Amino acid sequence: MFNFNYLIIFLTVKRCIAKIRGLMQPEQRQSINPLRLAKNKEHIKGSLSLDSLTRLEDILLDKHGQVQYDLSFDFDASGICLIKSYIGAAVLLQCQRCLKSVNIEIQKSTVLGAYKDSDEFKKLEDNYEPCQLDEEFILVEKLVEDELLLAIPLIPLHNNKKCIGEDGLKVLNVNNKTNAFSALAKLKDSKV
Ligand SMILES: [Zn+2]
Repeated sequence: MFNFNYLIIFLTVKRCIAKIRGLMQPEQRQSINPLRLAKNKEHIKGSLSLDSLTRLEDILLDKHGQVQYDLSFDFDASGICLIKSYIGAAVLLQCQRCLKSVNIEIQKSTVLGAYKDSDEFKKLEDNYEPCQLDEEFILVEKLVEDELLLAIPLIPLHNNKKCIGEDGLKVLNVNNKTNAFSALAKLKDSKV
């Protein structure tokens, strides 16, 4: 007779092995050397899954989905390494007016001016977003995550009409009725 206990043990062991394998092979992180890429005027693009960006964990209501990025590298006339960045994503946040979910489309284009020291920092044009190069290499994930964090509105909101919606109108009607009743009650009391 077939023993189901063996099947359960087999499946549990299989799941444990898969979990350990997952821990041993974390998602490959892409590190880049901006100066070298700028020298060759390179251009890289790709996408990252939102659930791999840990600093967004507490902000996003839904971690499914992707953020698209497009980065091109160059030097400006004064020798500053530029990273022209574009990020695009649709994120689900909590509306701070009605506390329901709100889908926010993000598209952000930025010119990052990379600097290593105060001399380079002084040379940055006003329209550059400063990007400190602590090390030779930077992680694409960190750069994209930074840009996405900067692009997410501090107070996400629906537009007014969507925010109030049908539920809001129901509450409004109930409140109006309650107010009408209380006004009647007051009228009655004043007559007594
Ligand atoms: Zn709302």
